[in-house]
Amino acid sequence: MIAIVMLITGLLVSGCSGSSSELVHPGYDITIGELESMVAPLPGEIRETIIDNPVCFLDRLSNVLEVPAELFLIADKDHNLGADYVPEDLVNLGDYPLYRNRDGMMLRAVALPDTLAMAEAARQEGIKLVFSSAYRSYGYQETVYLRNVSELGREQADRESARPGASQHQLGTAVDFGSITDSFAATPAGRWLVENAWKYGYSLSYPDGYEQVTGYRHEIWHYRYISRPAAYLERVYFHSLQHYLLLFLDSNRASLEEAYRGGDRNHGSDGQGEPPESVPGAAERTS
Ligand SMILES: [Zn+2]
Repeated sequence: MIAIVMLITGLLVSGCSGSSSELVHPGYDITIGELESMVAPLPGEIRETIIDNPVCFLDRLSNVLEVPAELFLIADKDHNLGADYVPEDLVNLGDYPLYRNRDGMMLRAVALPDTLAMAEAARQEGIKLVFSSAYRSYGYQETVYLRNVSELGREQADRESARPGASQHQLGTAVDFGSITDSFAATPAGRWLVENAWKYGYSLSYPDGYEQVTGYRHEIWHYRYISRPAAYLERVYFHSLQHYLLLFLDSNRASLEEAYRGGDRNHGSDGQGEPPESVPGAAERTS
């Protein structure tokens, strides 16, 4: 994985032009010192990847700033969505050619084109991607949680299930695939997703070894749609750690948007960057 990230990063660097002005990137009104303070809370290896390649990073970031911020909402034990959060564009997955293990699953329409493209790509490679769980309302989470509390006690219930409002499934962009068990990792679909989900904007939310960071145990079956540009940025610059990408955007998006508006986009880089050939569909996202 590290080798792949380094290779991709190296390719990116060779494809980006540097800036000789004081500003780190001609498309952004931002200095390297300002960028350094934005990435300061991140782990050292992520900071280094970004600060070593600031022009390419900001090129890529501009694509992410075009994506609605709602796709990057944080939902975890420290960020509660609240009972009122209901996505407005939910669609029924039963209306589309997808393998499902039950009826009535809903997903946000904004995630649908890439979701269908991913399922079709898997199918063409002989992989059966089974959708097992998607949107869960606040009310549904509350019912499950309260049942666990009454059966197991509050302490154990907190380990077994998210409190209402703390689940990414309420966003309408999270999907559980296959068996929803650890054994999914060794299945063809589980392995295919690890290799390919990012190409279609999906990101593994709870990777192995990051329980203390994410607040959730390793879930090899749980992916969240964050858009193709964001999944690319996450993979190359955030070492495939969704948690840190979301925290970075949550803290800095407003400042970065302002810096992007303030940058001189008629000078030098157009702020869009070249899509790598390894990211299918990236080209149509750069307009
Ligand atoms: Zn899940």
